Amino acid sequence: MSSTLQERIAEVSRRIEHACLRSGRDSRDVHTIAVTKYVSVEATSAVLASGLVNIGENRWQVAESKWKALGSRGTWHFIGHLQTNKVKDVIGKFQYIHSLDRLSLAKELQRKAEASGLYVNVFVQVNVSGEESKYGLHPDKVPDFLREITGLDRLKIVGLMTMAPHEDPELTRPVFRGLRELRDKLNGMGLTPEPMTELSMGMSNDFEVAIEEGATWVRLGTVLVGHEEGS
Ligand SMILES: *Cc1c(COP(=O)(O)O)cnc(C)c1O
Repeated sequence: MSSTLQERIAEVSRRIEHACLRSGRDSRDVHTIAVTKYVSVEATSAVLASGLVNIGENRWQVAESKWKALGSRGTWHFIGHLQTNKVKDVIGKFQYIHSLDRLSLAKELQRKAEASGLYVNVFVQVNVSGEESKYGLHPDKVPDFLREITGLDRLKIVGLMTMAPHEDPELTRPVFRGLRELRDKLNGMGLTPEPMTELSMGMSNDFEVAIEEGATWVRLGTVLVGHEEGS
């Protein structure tokens, strides 16, 4: 990648500001997660040194060396599919789990958090379009799921997350809008102890549309952190 990290941060901030202006939002309500899954410990350290505080990783195997070196600096987000047997590795290390999509995982997160005397922030992952993506709950299944996990007091259900299936950002707009409308509907039903304020949606190719539709967390790898050769 020819640009520097500082240049990419400035460009992404500018694009976030513009998306907020277009949609009448306050850019302080939009948080950026730097997705470091494609880069080394050194590059992740540079990301943290640049002032970005939220780090996203999608697999523990890839994150482990980075977390061990840098875990005390910043806030760590687990954004990928989480196998139940990996909960023990990520609990207490990742403050946010973006991929809660089944009861067995919720129960294991509760068990491990309780055993460690911790709480964990979770996003319920939703497959809004009902196509392509392997993971995430069907929107119709989310109300019952929230009812099932209400007793799991170690989980702070902060909001909903989705992965958009399309390459064309304008085709993803209805997906992002659907996630926002679902969150608002669920809040109206009062299914969580606190209303869900957060929406984790938008990646490198579609974050501006996601922001226009209400994203509060965008997950940016390629456009922000870049890729490293051989990784
Ligand atoms: C890799 C990844 C991202 C970032 O992808 P880019 O398109 O490189 O920005 C965001 N969210 C999830 C869940 C990912 O796995």
